[in-house]
Amino acid sequence: MGTLLAAPERLASLEGRTPTVATLCSHSSLQIFHGARAEGLPTLGICVGPPPRFYDAFPLARPDRFLSVPRVKDLPAAADRLRSEAAIIVPHGSFVEYLGPEAFSTIDVPVFGNRAVLGWESDRRKERDWLESAGVSMPRLYEDPSEITGPVIVKYYGAKGGKGFYLAKNRDALDEFRPTGPYVIQEYVLGTRYYMHFFYSPITEHGYRLTHGSLELLGMDRRDEANIDELYKLGAQEELLKAGIRPTFVVTGNVPVILRESLLPKAFDVAARIIERSIELFGGMVGPFCIEGIMTEDLEYKVFEISSRIVAGTNLFISGSPYSDLVEPGLSTGRRIAREIKRAQAEGRLAEVLS
Ligand code: ATP
Repeated sequence: MGTLLAAPERLASLEGRTPTVATLCSHSSLQIFHGARAEGLPTLGICVGPPPRFYDAFPLARPDRFLSVPRVKDLPAAADRLRSEAAIIVPHGSFVEYLGPEAFSTIDVPVFGNRAVLGWESDRRKERDWLESAGVSMPRLYEDPSEITGPVIVKYYGAKGGKGFYLAKNRDALDEFRPTGPYVIQEYVLGTRYYMHFFYSPITEHGYRLTHGSLELLGMDRRDEANIDELYKLGAQEELLKAGIRPTFVVTGNVPVILRESLLPKAFDVAARIIERSIELFGGMVGPFCIEGIMTEDLEYKVFEISSRIVAGTNLFISGSPYSDLVEPGLSTGRRIAREIKRAQAEGRLAEVLS
């Protein structure tokens, strides 16, 4: 038996009932609803104002019902209604960002995954403590700008889609930086970005085994980032600045990628370390998560960020990926979530996957 994430009273609304998969109508909601429907679970779309019309264009991914709130921030007040629908909230990046990590972590409705991860993920320093103590390689952090020896990236806290990040070619170029919030200065890593979509199941006892449960690789993508990209980033910055344009990393889309097969052991090793350490620190990062990092020319994978829930890059793989097809043909991350909920309920183990 793994760690219990949820106190039994929090799951009382689900007792003897078929759970409803609920999420905010954006980000990866089509995939989440599509996956839940494929597993025969009812679905509830949480929307601000009237239900978005785009679902009419995707009948296989349209939620069965909608819950409309005036603002996302009003959602905690709708907790009774959500519990009465036997809802399980499936968080995604926009959900947590719009509601705020604090409100999200206290919402009185069962949530898929371990909400304790939010405290470790939303603070870049705590995230670094977690990853470095797991033995994962990360871009160097500069506490004192005088130590800077090469290009750096200055990053604000929280998931802002890279908004406002500042690149400096060297220490002197940092003089012009005017912070607008808490930030960290990191080594700017040159290499190729890979965003790896994993799924950790504490209740699965086959496959790539961990101390408790097992790990699946369901897909991989790279993000298209607005007005700057790849090797040209540092040089391009100067050209953009000459034209009065500030470079940004705002995500505009995603492209599928695969990793050299010889690098897969490294990918699994990094993922396994992160999960094992998360179990020690806060009971485990359960469900989908994404490791975001850069493979250097020395084939070192430096992790700059973890997303502890379904990421939008998984939307590429609604009908399967080159990896998930080898787990089960056509398996999406959304469907994998619904499968986990169903299985956990059938085995009386919901408290291990919900919080
Ligand atoms: P999101 O919420 O979308 O994940 P974020 O605001 O948390 O974004 P990061 O994911 O940390 O920001 O970084 C945004 C982008 O900046 C990355 O996708 C990558 O292109 C670039 N980046 C981040 N850290 C580094 C680094 N150390 N070296 C080089 N590029 C980096």
